[in-house]
Amino acid sequence: MRFQQQVEKPPEVSLKIWTCGSEDCNGWMRDNFKSNEEPDCPLCGHAMIEEERTLPVLENFSAVSHKKE
Ligand SMILES: [Zn+2]
Repeated sequence: MRFQQQVEKPPEVSLKIWTCGSEDCNGWMRDNFKSNEEPDCPLCGHAMIEEERTLPVLENFSAVSHKKE
């Protein structure tokens, strides 16, 4: 099986993350930055929801980010 060589994409990893449960807040954090088993949002204090997300490896460095609009 061959595949075409295309422009190199940044590698991506599938990560467990936590997103803020509040609809008014775009806060999320990586699982390994959470402070306890059921973290609260560092931006607004709302309870967070566990999710799986595929992210470029390059974006893995910040503890807390905002969702892209
Ligand atoms: Zn929040």
